[in-house]
Amino acid sequence: MKVYSPSQTTLFLESSMKWALSGDYETRKVDGRRDFARVLGAGFAAGMAKYNEWRRDTVPTPTQCPGDTVDAAVAAAIDCVGSQMLEFEGREIGERDAAQRASILPRVERAVKKAIGGDPIPPDWKVITVETTLGEAYGWVKPDLVVCDPRGVAPFDYKLKLAIRGKSPDERAWNKEQLIADYARSWQMYHYVWALSHGGQLVNHYYIALTVLEPSFGIDLFPYEVDPESLAQWEKFAWATWERMERIEEGLELPVCAMGGCGSQYGPCEFQKLCWEFHYDWELAKFDYVRRRHRVQVG
Ligand code: SF4
Repeated sequence: MKVYSPSQTTLFLESSMKWALSGDYETRKVDGRRDFARVLGAGFAAGMAKYNEWRRDTVPTPTQCPGDTVDAAVAAAIDCVGSQMLEFEGREIGERDAAQRASILPRVERAVKKAIGGDPIPPDWKVITVETTLGEAYGWVKPDLVVCDPRGVAPFDYKLKLAIRGKSPDERAWNKEQLIADYARSWQMYHYVWALSHGGQLVNHYYIALTVLEPSFGIDLFPYEVDPESLAQWEKFAWATWERMERIEEGLELPVCAMGGCGSQYGPCEFQKLCWEFHYDWELAKFDYVRRRHRVQVG
């Protein structure tokens, strides 16, 4: 059976219809809040990957990262942002979103420099792999890092937030606590632990480096335990979900959606018009959407 990536699977669990449409269709108008946050995150990850390649290859890790490594990390982040931006060519970008687009490069540069300066990974831990795929058997997943700490091997992921939501310091502190708690049941990180556990090595924990850019920069490292019974439970959920995804891709089942679930933290679902006004009629939808490919039967 095919193994799907965590991003595909979690989108599928949110809405199998949204999963079926994403990648095939995009709105003609860019949604800066969602799309540029993704670009910023990808640029940051590319910069940190470059820095961590240096960490992987330089043992023991010096206390000070050389300036040319920092420059190379920033250049990698900027390159990544540039290539991600190509996908927006020919799509409409509103005034507010254009301002947000202009802020990506200075933000990513600052984020990478600050994250290197405040590297939360202890110098005596070894970085084993950097953005290395674990192979087709595991859905081609690529943990940001695999590290070896005094307890053994563990996957490690950076999470970038522009800001923690909330109107008051108390509300922001509460939301941050929720976010940290949510990472304890991360589908993505369980997938990495499951994949790395194969071959007999004991993997029972993972790390999240939560990076917040505004109003002031912060990067914190959080460890999470994985109970073996919880991992076995996740694996049952995963195989059942992947089986359904494959059946939909093969045209044996139709994707569906809970009608109340047409929104997320980024606002209304981008496919609302396609689903509920155009009813997947491409002739009607083509003025509002760009069609990239046709992968899954949706109706
Ligand atoms: S608009 Fe609603 S039904 Fe359509 S994909 Fe989005 S969440 Fe699913």
